[in-house]
Formats: sequence, structure tokens, C-alpha cells
Amino acid sequence: MGCVLVARYPSITEQTVVLARGYSRELPGNTHAEANALTKARNLSPKQLSEMFPTSAENNEPTIDINDVLKHTDVYTTLEPCSVRTSGLAPCADALVAARVRRCFIGVGEPDDFVQCEGAQRLKAAECQVIWVKGLEEECLAAARRGHQG
Ligand SMILES: [Zn+2]
Repeated sequence: MGCVLVARYPSITEQTVVLARGYSRELPGNTHAEANALTKARNLSPKQLSEMFPTSAENNEPTIDINDVLKHTDVYTTLEPCSVRTSGLAPCADALVAARVRRCFIGVGEPDDFVQCEGAQRLKAAECQVIWVKGLEEECLAAARRGHQG
């Protein structure tokens, strides 16, 4: 499953910036797309960040802080972020809440035969706007069943 983090930080740049993409099991272990995307975003070097947000460098502003950027970030993910992990890793919904992302666009809810999911509820409770993307359910579900859980 896949996840993209898109920053919209108008006080720094009018452009939308793709911070990171994540895929299930891309990083070692049974890792999920959202958590992997967050990890990759946090691993961006100051140089990479200043290339992504060139206006901040021009204005000689202090080095941009990824945690600050994440608060201006929208998440696009194929599956509803999970709320329960049996592996001991933090659930993706909690990781997104902790990062205080702004909005979460979800392709499809977790199917009933997957683990019971409260990811969207948990995000909403933390005042992250949840948007269910219409029309992609079939594609997202097919991808989920071919591959892994998001
Ligand atoms: Zn997950």
C-alpha cells in the first residue's frame, strides 16, 4: 500500500511539495506505508529540506523544521491508517496524530475482514481532517488484497 505526504506551507512557499512517499514493508520489518513515509520525511537532510522549500533559504530564515512542516502536511493514503498493531510498532493513525498532520485523504476503509480499524476516528478526534476519496475504492481494495495491509 502507498502513502504520499504533501506539504502546503503557504507562508514559506505557494507550491505544494511532495515530502515523502512510503510503501508497506519498504523499510525493514512489517512496516506500513504511512509510518514509512513519516520516517522518510523525518530523515530528510537540512539540505534536502532547503531544496524543497527554496524560499526559506532566500529569505535567510532559520532552517526549516520538519516537525513544523508536518503540521502543514496532507496525507494521501490508499488504505485507512491502522489503529491497532500486533507487531508492537505504533499504529499509523497514532503516528499521524503525533505528527499533527493537517488532513488525511483515504482511498478506502479497512475491509471488514481486516483488523477492526478506528484509524479515521482517531484522526478526527485529534482534529485532523479526514477526507474519504470517492471512486477509488475498487482499485485500492484490489491493491490491498494483492499486497499488504496499509
Ligand atoms: Zn499502519
